Amino acid sequence: GAKNKGKNRFEFYDANSDAVVAEKVKMEQAMRKAVEDDCKEFEVYYQPIMEFVNGIPTCCGAEALVRWNSPEYGLVLPDQFISQAEQLKLINSIGQHVLLEAAKSCKHWNDFGHPEYKVNVNLSVVQLTQSDFLDKLDMVLKQTAIDPQNLTLEVTESLAINDMERMIKLLDAIRAKGCRVALDDFGTGYSSLNYIRTMPLDTIKIDRAFVSDMNSDHFSEVFVKTISELADSLDVDVCVEGVEFDKQVDMIGKFSVNLAQGFFFDKPLTKEDFEKKYL
Ligand code: C2E
Ligand code: MG
Ligand code: MG
Ligand code: MG
Repeated sequence: GAKNKGKNRFEFYDANSDAVVAEKVKMEQAMRKAVEDDCKEFEVYYQPIMEFVNGIPTCCGAEALVRWNSPEYGLVLPDQFISQAEQLKLINSIGQHVLLEAAKSCKHWNDFGHPEYKVNVNLSVVQLTQSDFLDKLDMVLKQTAIDPQNLTLEVTESLAINDMERMIKLLDAIRAKGCRVALDDFGTGYSSLNYIRTMPLDTIKIDRAFVSDMNSDHFSEVFVKTISELADSLDVDVCVEGVEFDKQVDMIGKFSVNLAQGFFFDKPLTKEDFEKKYL
């Protein structure tokens, strides 16, 4: 009966069931192997970031988004492997690979027609709290000769939760090298306006949850408007994530939002496709 079905379904999703554990172990082994194989299977995609120039959205660079192109699993999206990679500490190697690839790409764009393009790279808290993170960043800057101003590191609020003071020091050190810092997914998680007051930031990225609700939910609209005004008065850039409809573009056009990203403009593209379209 229904009761039995419910029970079976529960067992199927039970994270401790033998099948689930075996599958997880198999994927972990594949991930370890991919990391040992110089991270070649971890492919960096680029989603254009648009800047409103006299109201006209114009590409000003891209966010680097990793995909695991696995022979066994196909193209695996970050939500399906990043947290596992963090638990296994494999994220340090994967993240460094993404950072280097993204910096290389951006330097290439800068040298070939777009000196103004910037690249954003997502950082895991695991990566950022490595004792030698700043040395690893230095290596990338040196090896690629990218203008540090064109490299933005995206961090999330959860990062600051544990040790605010340490985080501020680290972000200050990153900015002292000339790189920029963006606060990703703002408004979700443990958000507090105190973060934007105390954290050294160049950009606030407003989570797509607010943007997708903007046209139907009054709170979301007011949230985006208010945060963008606050950011503007603090001289911090604002990027709205997840723009999918022209109605949203119209609305943010009335706010102090200067950057936008979303499927309305373009999806994350392979390096090759990004360069075909935007270089
Ligand atoms: P994020 O940094 O907030 O990146 C934006 C995510 O939203 C991307 O998902 C992107 O494909 C998606 N997106 C962009 N525009 C739209 C839109 O209009 N509508 C909708 N529904 N989605 C949109 P993706 O690539 O699957 O990445 C998910 C998350 O995984 C990222 O969120 C980021 O937190 C993490 N991630 C991605 N690459 C890396 C990486 O190299 N290192 C680390 N540590 N995390 C990464
Ligand atoms: Mg991001
Ligand atoms: Mg985000
Ligand atoms: Mg996110």
